[in-house]
Amino acid sequence: MSVTPQTNATLPAIAEALTQYDDVLICGHVNPDGDCLGSQLALAHALHALGKRVTCLLATDEPVGASLRFLPGVADMTPASAFADERAVSRAVFVAVDVPTPERLGPAAAALHAAAVLTVTVDHHAVPERMSDLSYTDPDAASTSMLVWELAEHLLGAEGRARLPQLATCAYTGLVTDTGRFQFQNADHACFAAAAQMVAAGAEPADVARQVYQSRTLASVQLEGIAVSRMRLLREGRVAVSWITQEDMVRLGAVKADAEPLVDVLRSIGSVRVACMLRDQGSEVRGSFRAKDDTDVAAIAREFGGGGHKAAAGFTLPAGIEGALDAIARRLEAVSFREATA
Ligand code: 5GP
Ligand code: MN
Repeated sequence: MSVTPQTNATLPAIAEALTQYDDVLICGHVNPDGDCLGSQLALAHALHALGKRVTCLLATDEPVGASLRFLPGVADMTPASAFADERAVSRAVFVAVDVPTPERLGPAAAALHAAAVLTVTVDHHAVPERMSDLSYTDPDAASTSMLVWELAEHLLGAEGRARLPQLATCAYTGLVTDTGRFQFQNADHACFAAAAQMVAAGAEPADVARQVYQSRTLASVQLEGIAVSRMRLLREGRVAVSWITQEDMVRLGAVKADAEPLVDVLRSIGSVRVACMLRDQGSEVRGSFRAKDDTDVAAIAREFGGGGHKAAAGFTLPAGIEGALDAIARRLEAVSFREATA
């Protein structure tokens, strides 16, 4: 467990502060993933149990991806852009989970700026600046939902927390997704210990796995076929890059969430150390990086205006797909890999 310089509060202190107020707004990041939604909803369940009025804001106007719609409470989430209740914002504590900067809050940043009571961040993304009044950031935590799980113990006690299976399911989903089903480098002892507690409290690993990983749309699998057929292997197979166009998406009736598993397919090739999947969004290109060795793809993503974790990062480039592909391929040609692959 290590905390970053932007941390200025402990989880018990944050729990103590939250108990003082009746209204809480919980926000996550743009392109919400399993950890973002799982963390938001896990905290919402804990605060509901304390009788608080809680609103979870979505930093997107798009519907939650099909694989995460099973999360208990997701149907009550409100798109931030449609949440114009200024009085509600001004009297609520604003809590950001799994998101370190106002930019990553997207349309929910307005609520951060309007928050008049108290702002709080609980996160595992290290950034140079503190965004909230009270901030707890632990980049060693495999998921933000693990931190929310710990926070819930401070709010409810271990026994109170263990009586809320919906909270456990949300926290467990964040942990499963941010560790790539307990396969990534961040799957450590603390993560398994937290997972064991969540399962003891009612999270059902097989159900979560079926919902998240065995419920893909046909369009998603068809997109995968296209991505694989176009894939370019660079650096003697150590780098895999592929892309899908808007036209592909429209033709297959695919939504953004359908494209999310694709980068993992590139990464699954034995020789590949770094995978990059690009998706054309019309005036810009969205990119996802994954690293299988100690290459810091967050640093590379930052060069393109993005960020993330060392082994999983993303960016958005104001370019066409060909320009983006050229720029990324050129940058990946320059990565120095520690030793040659066999
Ligand atoms: P994904 O490839 O799944 O969209 O993103 C992987 C990780 O990188 C996410 O956990 C997220 O934290 C981070 N990330 C993705 N896109 C961006 C971006 O544009 N900016 C920053 N700062 N982080 C990003
Ligand atoms: Mn996360």
